[in-house]
Amino acid sequence: MKKEPHVLVVGMDGVRYDSLRSAASPALDRIAEDGFLVPVRVHAKNATISGPVWATVASGVHADRHRVTGNSHHPAELGRFQDFTAVLRSARPELETMIAASWHPLAVRTACGPIFSSGGWVPTPDPEEANDAVSWLCADDAVADYASRRLGAENLAVSFVYFGEADVEAHNHGTGPGYIAAIERCDSRLNHLLDVIDSRPNHHREDWTVIVVTDHGHLDAGGHGGESEVERTAWIAASGASLTQGITATDHADIFHQVLATFGVTPDGEVAESGGAPFGARQRERQEASRQKPTQPGPTQQQSTPQEPAQRLAQRGGGAR
Ligand SMILES: [Zn+2]
Ligand SMILES: [Zn+2]
Repeated sequence: MKKEPHVLVVGMDGVRYDSLRSAASPALDRIAEDGFLVPVRVHAKNATISGPVWATVASGVHADRHRVTGNSHHPAELGRFQDFTAVLRSARPELETMIAASWHPLAVRTACGPIFSSGGWVPTPDPEEANDAVSWLCADDAVADYASRRLGAENLAVSFVYFGEADVEAHNHGTGPGYIAAIERCDSRLNHLLDVIDSRPNHHREDWTVIVVTDHGHLDAGGHGGESEVERTAWIAASGASLTQGITATDHADIFHQVLATFGVTPDGEVAESGGAPFGARQRERQEASRQKPTQPGPTQQQSTPQEPAQRLAQRGGGAR
């Protein structure tokens, strides 16, 4: 019998790739071991800011289409793009989904939100009001509690769960020991969610894909939005029986496509043309290109960046400078 697919996407805001590698992160280690954890370059069309990148995660398109360029304004264009849980429910109305996030604009109508068109659960008070370490720690814990209760008790097909304390810690105190500790707490929350999933009574009949993603990095002193490597470098990790092995190239836009592909749903319209693809499709593209042109080592055959197909699109889209 075919196992029932489920996907959990966990967002951790502003977790620098090198800081993650130096933190103790057993949950992410487990995912990387079973699947992959790769650095991801924030697409050139997106600023290294939360709003634009999470909008790409949610909708599968970049800022040239969704038009989220910062954290404060909700552009009318974003309304054209449903998040992956909404697209899934349109195709498969019997399926249930969940969104839970400590950063309110992801899930409710405030500032640039809702970035996820479906809306979702947010903790109160809004941690952005005090914007200190304790408020964010408590808000992230509340999200983990809420999400784990529902993941354990319900039959959620797709969930998005978001933790924000690491980003705020870096803004307030830089990327030192407090930041590493915040990353480790986010990993513990992820670990708890994984334990809840493993203890589901029908777990043996379910096929869970877990995707974990950050939106951008941070300068040493805290802060992002610029073009430095530490800000442009994000990462994506994923594991699950349905994933292609040996993923090395991906983009934030691919998460949308991967989630839907897990359920056999192919997006149409503008999203289909936007350059995102399920995990593994970029490698296949490259392998096919190198088979077709064995004597002409071109850019597609070199040690290519994860960004490559998207870069080409970006160049087509406007000025090659
Ligand atoms: Zn962010
Ligand atoms: Zn930030």
